[in-house]
Amino acid sequence: MDYYSNQISRLIDEFSRLPGIGAKSAQRLAFHIINMPKEQVESFAKALVDARNNVRYCTQCCTLTDRELCPICSNLDRDQRTIMVVETPRDLAAYEKTGKYNGVYHVLHGAISPMLGIGPSDIRLKELIERLQGDVDEVIIATNSSLEGETTAMYISKLIKPTGIKVSRIASGVPVGGDLEYIDEVTLLRALEGRTEL
Ligand code: ZN
Repeated sequence: MDYYSNQISRLIDEFSRLPGIGAKSAQRLAFHIINMPKEQVESFAKALVDARNNVRYCTQCCTLTDRELCPICSNLDRDQRTIMVVETPRDLAAYEKTGKYNGVYHVLHGAISPMLGIGPSDIRLKELIERLQGDVDEVIIATNSSLEGETTAMYISKLIKPTGIKVSRIASGVPVGGDLEYIDEVTLLRALEGRTEL
C-alpha cells in the first residue's frame, strides 16, 4: 500500500488488526478519522488509552470495571447471595438490560473447551469457588448453550454440589450455540425464570 503516505498506511494497518475489520473497512475508517475534527480525534484517542489503562477486573465478580469493586458488587440493594455465572461482561450487560435480575454476577471470561485447549484453570473459576466460602444461597449458571457452555455448566455444578449450595441452570429457551448478547430480553428473562435446579 505504498501509494498512501506512511502515516496513513500505519493507521490503516492498526485498524485492520481489529477483529472483523477487513482491508476495505480499515481504509474507510482511517480516512474517516483523518476527516474528523481534530478535537474529536483527540478525545477518541484519549478514550482508548484511558479505557486500556484504567479498566481492570472487579475483585469480586471479575467483570471489567474502573474501580476495585464494580457498581453491581458495591450496590447493597442487590441480592449479594445469588450469583449468576456468565461467560463474558457482554452477557452480564444482556441480563442487566432486562432490568429484572437483582442478584450479582460472576464473569468467567470464557468457557471450558477441550478442543481449543481451554481448561478450568484458564477461566475465572478459582475466584468463583473462593466466593462460595461466603454467604451464598444460589448459583445460577447462565453460560451459553454451546458445547463449551454446557461443558462448563456441568463442570461447575459438579464442583458446587458437595457444598450444599443450590445450583441451577437457565432454561434451554436460549437457542443452542446462541451468544447470550444477541438474544432478546424477553427470551433471557424466560430462560432465567424457567431455570431448573441441577
Ligand atoms: Zn463486581
